[in-house]
Amino acid sequence: MIIDLRDCLRLDDNPLFEGVSHPIPVWVCETQRFERMSPRRQRFVLQAVAELRDALRGLGSDLVIRVGDRVECLTDLAQQTGQAIRVGAASGLDERKQDRALNAERIDVTSLFRREQLPFEAVPEPFTKFRNKVQKKLKPDAPLAKPERLAPLPEGLDPGQIPSIPEVPSEPSAVMEFVGGEQAAQSHLTQYLSDPRRPSTYKETRNGMLGADYSTKFSPFLAQGSLSPRRIWQAVSEFEQQVIKNDSTYWIKFELLWREYFHWWVQDWGAELYRAPERYQTRQPWFEAWCNGETGVPFIDANMKELTQSGFMSNRGRQNVASFLAKDLGLDYRLGADFFEYHLLDYDHGSNWGNWAYVAGVGADPRDDRWFNVLLQATRYDKRGGYVRHWLPDLDTVDDRHIHWPWTAGLSPPPIVHPSGWNKVIMP
Ligand SMILES: Cc1cc2nc3c(=O)[nH]c(=O)nc-3n(C[C@H](O)[C@H](O)[C@H](O)COP(=O)(O)OP(=O)(O)OC[C@H]3O[C@@H](n4cnc5c(N)ncnc54)[C@H](O)[C@@H]3O)c2cc1C
Repeated sequence: MIIDLRDCLRLDDNPLFEGVSHPIPVWVCETQRFERMSPRRQRFVLQAVAELRDALRGLGSDLVIRVGDRVECLTDLAQQTGQAIRVGAASGLDERKQDRALNAERIDVTSLFRREQLPFEAVPEPFTKFRNKVQKKLKPDAPLAKPERLAPLPEGLDPGQIPSIPEVPSEPSAVMEFVGGEQAAQSHLTQYLSDPRRPSTYKETRNGMLGADYSTKFSPFLAQGSLSPRRIWQAVSEFEQQVIKNDSTYWIKFELLWREYFHWWVQDWGAELYRAPERYQTRQPWFEAWCNGETGVPFIDANMKELTQSGFMSNRGRQNVASFLAKDLGLDYRLGADFFEYHLLDYDHGSNWGNWAYVAGVGADPRDDRWFNVLLQATRYDKRGGYVRHWLPDLDTVDDRHIHWPWTAGLSPPPIVHPSGWNKVIMP
């Protein structure tokens, strides 16, 4: 059986190997998909691929690497080996089309639950309905153990070469240095839970923006499939049994249910979720200013610098820059989501497109009033401007009173827009 390890770069809790006596593990470096990733994101993925190959070799197997079009590469391998194909069920429209073209067996590897466990056909909206149903009726399956030994690859099958890993300088201002792969993922999970102060105060700290500890930072490992959501669920449940169970530990699971929700929810949508109509290209200079962190609004610009320089951004930051793009600049959210896809180390199809549509007010639970007053947000979540100064050192000398609106004191050029709602926030 050919096992396509696309976004499931792990051996722990990997149902793709379950019940297969002679797996042929494969990873296809999809040229088109790779072009849509920053070098930093490519590096993060390839680190995980290289580590997985070593681990598979240690078990007696190997990782077959192919570069090119996913359908062509897997079809060639299927013809060459005479084997059927098994894939992790991705939520993307293109991947689902590819899987159909491959006539592949699809296994749920990204989600907490299996499709057949879900107590509904179409995902209920809003999220609360989904959560209530799921929480009452379901428990994630226990994670599977790593395979202990695997059969060798068929004789004569060329394992191929891993593409060279791009050199990317590490970013000293980043929340943490993310190294791709299962070992880093497992040790990050263990380390996060090892200090009870982190998980037991998550609910209070989760809106932070600086440093490694304000939130779990599980997302990059989940996105490349180096960490299984069921493993996290189990580890948090054990923490609750052995150390402490409180609102914060519940909230980590609550957030994993948001991820789960979007994973299923995007699958009910067609192509319109993803492709921005041409007419939205007209405000290109505003879009470029947003991308480059040059809007003139320090809170937005600092977050965009963090994204492009480190490949990560806090949830608070993401909500604000997304609202700013969609509501204040009036641009199509799909332009922003596409830009996130390129940069985010934790880019996850469902979480990204689902959240963008949600913030823009067009997706699950659509609402026109979901507007973030980004200046008010800045004063709440970056009271004294420490975050803004961290990413925009040019503002180092600006005093706390003006840090979020330096233009009002003539300390910076005015921002590219000035929504009327800001007037309530800026003190004369
Ligand atoms: C516009 C926008 C785009 C986003 N794009 C992505 C993306 O591409 N990939 C991604 O993983 N998350 C995305 N998120 C969700 C969220 O911002 C990140 O999951 C979170 O910031 C990752 O940091 P963490 O692991 O420390 O999260 P924590 O706060 O520690 O949360 C624990 C886990 O819960 C899940 N989670 C938390 N918040 C959300 C949420 N709002 N939606 C879905 N899952 C959530 C993640 O898997 C996360 O790792 C996006 C949010 C917004 C507003």
